[in-house]
Amino acid sequence: MAKLAVENRIWDPAETLPRDALRALQGRRLAETVARAAKVPFYRDALARAGVDPAGVRSVDDVRRLPFTVKDDLRENYPLGLLAVPRAEIVRVHGSSGTTGKPTFVAYTRNDLDVWSGLVARFLVAGGLRPEHLVHVAFGYGLFTGGFGLHYGIEKVGAGVVPAAGGNTPRQVLLIRDLGAEVLVCTPSYALHIAEVAKAEGFLPGTLPLRFGHFGGEPWTEEMRVEIERGLGILAFNNYGLSEVIGPGVSGECGARAGMHVQEDHFVVECVHPETLEPVPDGGTGELVFTTLTKEALPVLRYRTRDLASLDRSPCPCGRTGVRMSRVVGRSDDMLIIRGVNVFPSQVEEALLRVEGTAPHYLIEISRPGTLDEAVVKVEVRPGDFRDEMREMIELRDRIDREIHAVTGVRMTVELVAPNTLERSAGKARRVFDHRNR
Ligand SMILES: [Zn+2]
Repeated sequence: MAKLAVENRIWDPAETLPRDALRALQGRRLAETVARAAKVPFYRDALARAGVDPAGVRSVDDVRRLPFTVKDDLRENYPLGLLAVPRAEIVRVHGSSGTTGKPTFVAYTRNDLDVWSGLVARFLVAGGLRPEHLVHVAFGYGLFTGGFGLHYGIEKVGAGVVPAAGGNTPRQVLLIRDLGAEVLVCTPSYALHIAEVAKAEGFLPGTLPLRFGHFGGEPWTEEMRVEIERGLGILAFNNYGLSEVIGPGVSGECGARAGMHVQEDHFVVECVHPETLEPVPDGGTGELVFTTLTKEALPVLRYRTRDLASLDRSPCPCGRTGVRMSRVVGRSDDMLIIRGVNVFPSQVEEALLRVEGTAPHYLIEISRPGTLDEAVVKVEVRPGDFRDEMREMIELRDRIDREIHAVTGVRMTVELVAPNTLERSAGKARRVFDHRNR
């Protein structure tokens, strides 16, 4: 069994409920949720079409009879047509911008916010947060659930928050040093950027007060974890969530760091094939689907996340009983088809991180100049490794080329670019530009 990277503390005894008690609780809460959702015209119609009588939902297994919900359902009920409580009971609204189309909004009752901060507290404590710590939050504050979600979870634990938000990275480094934050919260790509800036400002890894990092909001790889840990001299933990389900706190890593425990007393998770929607056996990669069990303002039934991951039900040395989900390996709608081969941007990242001398900043551009797809990967070379020596650069490029081919099965044209030439983002990094007309 995996060794725990931190002392094992459990925030909420519900995290260790025996599986049979957990299933019974899920069944009761699912019945309540379906009854609540049935008050919303959209869900009432969807349940009727699926032939589901809300009164007949008793066990957690009944979840498989429920209709799916997709992002477009939220868009079509813009702005808050899926509310299951009177508008007066809303105490917070969040939303996601999305890269295309209308934004989508989600809402919370007082109790929803209390549940949410408790779920965030669980994964933070599992990953080393203690009441005496100070946490630097470099997530954006606003409609995005990351900033406020983490903020209130940290306060619930009793730790201190520095709500730094995004931007002005040299100043962030200064704040971390001067205020002495032990914990960093942001997206993994921004953590990497903070590490670069800290290095440029003359901080050696481990000389900042940081000890732990909790990163989420975008998919990342194990190689990137190693990179962040080395760059900042910290232990890095992964957490997962999405605004449609609640925000961060749907799942998070414990000290074993071998998958993220889904908070199953509040969410039912399923892993399905993205096309057939049939269940994928444990260990297999499929699309994650969540049903909320306690959300009041905006219950969701079988929400299709488009996030691809696998589930692991084997016991965990930490004692938590929630099923563990793998890191997100891609999105079913992000999947690129290049010359007929399925490729995820995360695979390119994995390949790059295997090669010394390349920073994990990259951009994939796809075009179809004639009849065949062409993929160009622009890769930043690390400051110390950028040389005028042509031969060394060609060797580096060839190595990257081989690694990308080995991981993805596709040949891409690799272009090395000078350090700090690709755009940095404080939010989710945009990695792909697809110029094909489809
Ligand atoms: Zn665990």
